[in-house]
Amino acid sequence: MKIRPIDRVRRAMAEGLRPDREVWVDEWAESNRVLPPDTPEPGPFRFARTPYLIDIHRTMSPGSPWREGWWMKPHQVGGSVTGENLIGAWVCTAAGSVLTVFPTLDDAKQWELTRFEPMRASTRALRRRIRPADEKGSDNTKLRKRFPGGVMRLVGSNRVGALKSSTIRYIKFEEPDEYQVLEQGSVVGLAKARTANFGRKAKIYGDGTPTFDGRSEIQRQVLRGDQRKWHLHCPDCHHAQPLVWEQLKWVDGGPDSARHACSACGTLNDEATWKASNYAPRPPGMDEAEARQTGRAYWQATATGEPGVASWCGLEALAAPMGWRPWPSLVVDWLAAQGDEDKLRIFYNNLRGLPYQDKVRNDLGAEQLQQRAESYELMTCPQGGLICTAGVDTQDNRLAVVIRAWGRGEESWGVWHGEIYGNPSAPETWAKLKELLEAPIQHASGQVMRVDAVAIDAGGHHGEDVYAFCRDAQVRGKHWFAIRGAKSYDAPKLSRPKKIEFTWRGNPVPGGAELRHVGTQAIKNLIDGRLKLTQPGGGAYHFPLGFQADYYKQLRSERREWRRDMQGHKALWWVKGKERNEAWDCEVYGYAAYLYAMAGQHAETVFRNREKLFGQVRQMELLDENLPARIPEPAAARVPHPEPQPEPDPDPDPEPAPQRLELSFASLIQAHPAAHAPRSPPTRPTRRGFVQRW
Ligand SMILES: [Zn+2]
Repeated sequence: MKIRPIDRVRRAMAEGLRPDREVWVDEWAESNRVLPPDTPEPGPFRFARTPYLIDIHRTMSPGSPWREGWWMKPHQVGGSVTGENLIGAWVCTAAGSVLTVFPTLDDAKQWELTRFEPMRASTRALRRRIRPADEKGSDNTKLRKRFPGGVMRLVGSNRVGALKSSTIRYIKFEEPDEYQVLEQGSVVGLAKARTANFGRKAKIYGDGTPTFDGRSEIQRQVLRGDQRKWHLHCPDCHHAQPLVWEQLKWVDGGPDSARHACSACGTLNDEATWKASNYAPRPPGMDEAEARQTGRAYWQATATGEPGVASWCGLEALAAPMGWRPWPSLVVDWLAAQGDEDKLRIFYNNLRGLPYQDKVRNDLGAEQLQQRAESYELMTCPQGGLICTAGVDTQDNRLAVVIRAWGRGEESWGVWHGEIYGNPSAPETWAKLKELLEAPIQHASGQVMRVDAVAIDAGGHHGEDVYAFCRDAQVRGKHWFAIRGAKSYDAPKLSRPKKIEFTWRGNPVPGGAELRHVGTQAIKNLIDGRLKLTQPGGGAYHFPLGFQADYYKQLRSERREWRRDMQGHKALWWVKGKERNEAWDCEVYGYAAYLYAMAGQHAETVFRNREKLFGQVRQMELLDENLPARIPEPAAARVPHPEPQPEPDPDPDPEPAPQRLELSFASLIQAHPAAHAPRSPPTRPTRRGFVQRW
């Protein structure tokens, strides 16, 4: 029978005006949902295998007194189907607009295509209320769907601030830890404000996997609630307890022996025994209290929480239905994660549903780093430093610089940090940088060390100035080069040079310029791990006492957040906050300069040659003005030169006179008169002979 359009309108109006029916979402799901054949448990939806989902469905039902619900969950325990059921039931049973917030617009589109549309197509009640987006006259799009009584919108987290005039009754937050940071405030707070008119009739539900302890949005929300934990009765003593990873025991080398020890009687039981009676199917309508009395697993609140806020946590993958996450496979994952911080975090987040306590961030603040500073002077290099590089960050009114010396195993010593104030369009600014980069560094051996390679940030507004500066320096035989941060997460740490022939306006760059891309994310991960090392040796970072507090603050200013790159790959990105971060960027560029200096060389040869120069420890006594300013450098001549040297250094610059140094670093350099003693040609830095790639 064909339905006339007018009948359709009448029926829609009647349904839209109808008061909320007393429907529980769990009952709606069992009588309406049919899961497609390509899902793990196809056919009519049932809670028989996943009794822990019932309480979440019921609490978020339109007629429930709870206003908010938050579930901090591991991966693949039924979170997706729960969200679909809630949205389906909200749309079908009660009037009011629905908002679903995804991390990105792409996530929203993906969900519409792979989750919502199959649900709509297979659910009669939904088909009747939401017409397909491609049907003529339906006025529906992929991201906005009308139904009698309201409209459902799907948005990316960055668009939540634009929802100013909308009134919303139901919100579903999807993976809130991946939301973008908005200028106007938190995504959750902005969206929730739209439900104010509905008071307790509003329903706000969010679920997601946590990330880092203390910075996880889902954790923050769960802590506001009553923190229900999923309790199982011990098969032996019947004591009820959540299954926790710490209680899982196995024989060395035998993951199949995995057993969970009861927290009360200590008896070990395997997965099937724990889950047999606890997961006995519940008769229709059974609630948590009855489940508890009949020896079934149940949710138990463990906190008071804010009024009207329910939350669920403490359900690890250990408690997933039989066959979903066999315990031996979890043991295998756990063993594979040992010693790998990234894998451990994934185990905590995805399999335990717990935020990870990020040792680096939590244990290593700026203050702790500063306390590690060692007593050597700025513009000096302790014994062990062999190669010296600098990283320069270009800002609109200043250049930030870090100079660092590198030794065997990439152990490194901070040599100088500071800023050169001035507009990078002005030649004076670059003249000051040149002066700094060419200043001598007093090595503990008594020798003078020079900066071998410099990476200068050509991002921002001053790329042309950076190219010009680097080109001039290269003509003079310097290894100073322009870089930019790469856009993708897994970019190589240092790319091959790219020739820049034109400005962004299309004007030719005189003589062209070379640009290398730096894999900032990879280098930041590397440095971050190394900052943890507290013992001298390979990878260790050393700092002189003269590095100021702002250096350390900038070094620890960035946070890691889940982001997607342009290919849509999700990864933990280092993200700049409001704090300044130039020193951190400088360290990244300085490391890129080190890679540049060492590229294509036999590291051992480089180190040996340098050790011939810097190997003898003469310590800092040479800083005493009464001693000879230099010792002869016989070793310099012995450094092999695999390639013919370029033309004699055309660099005519005389040693800068101390009084010309007006920069903040001037006083630091002046503190070491030896470094400014007149130089004779043989003491000329032998840098060309050392790092012989260019
Ligand atoms: Zn027991």
